[in-house]
Amino acid sequence: MSVMYQSTRSRSEKVTASQAILKGLADDGGLFVPEAIPAFTVPYKTLAGLSYQETAYEVMKLFLSDFTGEELKACIRGAYDEKFDTKEIAPLVKKDGAYYLELFHGKTIAFKDMALSILPYLMTTAAKKNGVTNEIVILTATSGDTGKAALAGFADVPGTSIIVFYPKNGVSPIQEKQMLTQKGNNTTVIGIVGNFDDAQTGVKEMFHSRELAERMDKKGYQFSSANSINIGRLVPQIVYYVYAYGQLLKQGEIKEGEKINVVVPTGNFGNILAAYYAKNMGLPIETLYCASNENKVLYDFFQTGKYDRKREFILTSSPSMDILISSNLERLIYRIAGEDAGRTKELMEALSSQGEYEITPEMKEKLFCFEGGFATEEETAQTIRRVYEKTGYIMDTHTAVASCVYEKKAADTGVKTVIASTASPYKFTRSVMDAIDKKAYENMSDFELVDELNRISGVAVPGAIEEIRSAPVLHDTVCDKSEMQKEVERILGL
Ligand SMILES: *Cc1c(COP(=O)(O)O)cnc(C)c1O
Repeated sequence: MSVMYQSTRSRSEKVTASQAILKGLADDGGLFVPEAIPAFTVPYKTLAGLSYQETAYEVMKLFLSDFTGEELKACIRGAYDEKFDTKEIAPLVKKDGAYYLELFHGKTIAFKDMALSILPYLMTTAAKKNGVTNEIVILTATSGDTGKAALAGFADVPGTSIIVFYPKNGVSPIQEKQMLTQKGNNTTVIGIVGNFDDAQTGVKEMFHSRELAERMDKKGYQFSSANSINIGRLVPQIVYYVYAYGQLLKQGEIKEGEKINVVVPTGNFGNILAAYYAKNMGLPIETLYCASNENKVLYDFFQTGKYDRKREFILTSSPSMDILISSNLERLIYRIAGEDAGRTKELMEALSSQGEYEITPEMKEKLFCFEGGFATEEETAQTIRRVYEKTGYIMDTHTAVASCVYEKKAADTGVKTVIASTASPYKFTRSVMDAIDKKAYENMSDFELVDELNRISGVAVPGAIEEIRSAPVLHDTVCDKSEMQKEVERILGL
């Protein structure tokens, strides 16, 4: 069966999967959604025996139906190989009664690698299929994690180049060093004098400039986007929920068809939406717990049915979830609005003009399989300390938000629960070690903390961290926020 994609905001545009990947966003500003979510029909017995790569193929072929089997297999082979430091790609680890799905074994030790490792392959294949001969220029604004994961994914991929803008004084020292040491002849990293919103606005303006697009086309370039609303990022994320279910079966932890819960630490709503799509494909999931940090706009939404972004932005120890506008929620809104694009458009316009919207009671009823939860900063730290003291397992701050919500809401439901573990503790060493024993560690340098974490956890220091200890800085461009386009023109020789 062939699956076509349309916008969440109108019914006029219908595109194939490969076209949706190339475009990123629909022309009307909406997000691409499949016309219908396909059903997963692989028998449980077979599923339990599939490798990660085989599971990826069985899931992705249903959504990316205009890719040939050979094309898709080549993408999967290229993405999920020795770049990951474990053959399982996404191991499931049982601790203290819960199952941690470790999504941080890729190049940049956070879960964005799960999708950004394969997106370059999907995109270059999509370009070929659609007769695109221009070089694809990935343009990204980042607040830290996405930039590095996208750089690592696209570095030296033929037919592509990538330009990343980040706020010069708005990312952590480790995050900055990770980006500035990025190798690859097709990579550029630029710090801007301005904040993340300025970077994002500058990038959006370039995306929407017809005039710039025409000049680029003449020189053989076109823009594309690697951000989390691209379906080329969403679809690969469905895979690991299906894989986790297979692993639970294989390990004899559940019976065929037994329902499980999932808890997902959430920011832009991409990861948990993938779990929701997995459920809609027929994976036996009972409840999806949406875990927020103190920026709990989603928790309030699930409680009240009102989305209200007009609030203080709080900087927390789980920065990748410090977000007040969860872009991917639009795809859920579209579903619960009965796939009514007009209604979705109204609500999204209300969000941008008034900063809030409220769903109807009928729509709210359809959210019964979701439950919101949140963890304060203190609770997050306590969770890291408690699980470490009890089991020796050390988790990162984002995972700890989810683990805390698990304790509060899911632990005593009697349903086996998978917690999405989205980053290695080595990525947020300072916060993690502070949580364990602030007094003992407060005078240590970042790399002394890395060695101490290694000593107390017994987990090897990941290559991603070892690399940046001594790697040379390869990027040093800084520009004003008003000069972003000039920089892009300089790089591309326009
Ligand atoms: C991006 C990110 C999240 C949030 O994921 P969303 O898909 O944006 O909800 C959680 N944890 C980590 C470590 C991340 O990098």
